[in-house]
Parts: sequence; structure tokens; C-alpha cells
Amino acid sequence: MKIARIEAIVVEQQLDRPFYFSQFEFQARQVCLVKAVADDGSYGWGEGYGPAAVVKAGVEFLAPLAIGENPLRVEAIWSKMHLRALDYARRGVLVAAISAIDIALWDLRGKLLGQPVSALLGGRRREDVRVYATGLYFTESDDQVGALVKEAQRYAAQGFSAIKMKVGLGVETDLRHVRAVRQAIGADIELMVDANHAYSLSEALAFARQIEPLGISFFEEPLSPEDYDGYRELRQRTSIPIAGGECEYLLAGFRQLLSMRCVDIAQPDICAAGGLTEVKRIAALASAFQTNIIPHSWGTGIAFAAGLHLVSTLDPLPGRLRMSAAMLEMDRSENALRDTLTRPQFKQVDGYVSVPTAPGLGVDVDPVQLARYAAGG
Ligand code: CA
Repeated sequence: MKIARIEAIVVEQQLDRPFYFSQFEFQARQVCLVKAVADDGSYGWGEGYGPAAVVKAGVEFLAPLAIGENPLRVEAIWSKMHLRALDYARRGVLVAAISAIDIALWDLRGKLLGQPVSALLGGRRREDVRVYATGLYFTESDDQVGALVKEAQRYAAQGFSAIKMKVGLGVETDLRHVRAVRQAIGADIELMVDANHAYSLSEALAFARQIEPLGISFFEEPLSPEDYDGYRELRQRTSIPIAGGECEYLLAGFRQLLSMRCVDIAQPDICAAGGLTEVKRIAALASAFQTNIIPHSWGTGIAFAAGLHLVSTLDPLPGRLRMSAAMLEMDRSENALRDTLTRPQFKQVDGYVSVPTAPGLGVDVDPVQLARYAAGG
């Protein structure tokens, strides 16, 4: 059997309510999907994280390396793509294009072998993965604090046991927001904060010190992803665990982040950092540094399914009788692509989502929705 085609399809949805975070505003959600089709008509789905048009160009550049190949040789194909990209893109969107093709090939391989991707990754340790709600972005609201409180209470009522909120607008504003949300959800729900690298080291330190009494489970991307020394220093000077890595790529990138002891939690994005092939290796490397990974996930049901399969195979560290749960990000911001493009829909119950059991990733794209979103929603 051979890979006959690699299709790159950009899907787009205009948001009903634009939202922003510390770096820029979103008016629309846009993703580049990849469909890898074998000569017998079998297919697998993948997606890349990053500017969709650029991911698409990358997929089209790399596709000839996969076409004509045996679809079971996923890691060999990965190596060919990586070598072809290495001279131009040791990190960045071309790696996201590799990731998108790689995920599609894992899905295809699972379908051809009649096995869920988690089985091919080494076998799941759990049937349900703990998820945390990502939301609490900023909107043009007269009452931002009230809006954040209401949204956080909604996630708590839905059963989430962990919630992540955006910060990075400035220490005083952020403090007001975090205090209000913590008070609204009570002490029993885990709360995390994400600055999307908007702080300087001194700001991050001042902020961290003031939120330490609020029981924050991790402080995500406090500093520029280029500031490895800053991460290391901040981590030594606050009791809040530091998380990061969604802007990091490939094993070599994570080696730098981990060997410099920058983070307590590494957050590779499977759709950007090198696909399932490479993030499995990153997880192994992280375990050698006694660092847990909680993958970044901000895409459609394809990205989320890839995350569920991978996280279901992780061994949380340190090993112990009463093991802490491995966790995955579950974006709750407005995203019709995530909610309607793929089937079946993922349901969160009491803070957990079941890992699909069907062969491959266990999700399929609805052709009617695909046609609609490929035309711009
Ligand atoms: Ca983030």
C-alpha cells in the first residue's frame, strides 16, 4: 500500500465575539487540516498549529516526501521531512507542517492496523484523561472582572476541577482578575494563570509573589520563550510551578528548556512541536528530567484527539501508589471548528474526557461542515 495524496485544507470560522489575550486579538479561528489518503482510499487526519496559510504552504512543500511511501513507515517519513526542513527551519511553522502530516499518518496507520493511536504509542495507562478548561480571555466588556467571574463559575458548574485564565495586561489589572476568579470558584478548584510571555522578569516575579497565597497550580509562559535564563531564575524565586513550551519545537528545543531547568511542566503542542512522533520523544526526554508534560492544545477535535491518545500513555512523575493524573488542555473559548467539524464530539464529565477507542485517532471530519468551513464558514 502507498500514500496516494496529502491534502492541505484551510478551514475558517469568523467569531461571533472577538476576544484577545496579552499579544493580539482574534477575529476568526483558522486551521490547516491535513488529509493523508492511501491508494486503497483509507485516510487519516492531522492538523498544524500556527498561521494556517503558512502551514499549508509547508505541507505542500513536504508532501512529495510522503507520497508513494508505505503509510506504516511513519517515523521513517518523519525523518525524511525533518531532514528536508532542517536547513531552513530548526523551529517554527515548517515544523508545524511536519506535525500535521505526521498526525495524519498516525491516524492512517491506526486505521490500517485496526488499532487506536494510543495502542501504537505503547498502550494507554488510563481510559479517561483529566482536562483543564482554558478560557477567560479578554473581551471588550464594560465589566471585565464580572465577565471573567461568570465564565469561571460556568466551568466550575460544568464539572471542571481545574481552570486556566489569561493574564499579562499588567500586574495590577492581573491581580484584580486573579483574586476575583479565585474568590468566585473557591479553594477546591485548581487555578492556573497564563501570561503568553507578556511579562519582564521583574514583573513576573512581582506578580508571582503576590499570587502565591492564592494557590496557583502553575504560571504559564511568564516570560519570552527566548529568555531561558529568565525562566530559570524565576523558577528559583517563586514557589509557583512554572510551565512553558508551547513556542518550543522538536527534541533539541526541549532539551534546552529542560536541561536549563526552565520549567516544572513542559507544554509541547503536538500540532507544532513535531507531531506525535516527536512529542513522544519529548515526553521521554522530559521524564529523564523528572518533568511532567501537559500538552498545549488549541485546535479542532483532531488536535484534541491526538492529545488524548498521547496523554493516555504518559506515566506521571514521580511514580507512586496514589498517582497524580496526567492532564491535557481543553480550550473552551469560542471555536465552532472544534465543536462541529469532527465527530464524535468530546464530552467532559467531572473534569475527565474518555480516550476514543476506534482505530486511529477515533475522530472523523464531517464532510458537510468541512465544505462549509473550507469556504470560510
Ligand atoms: Ca498558553
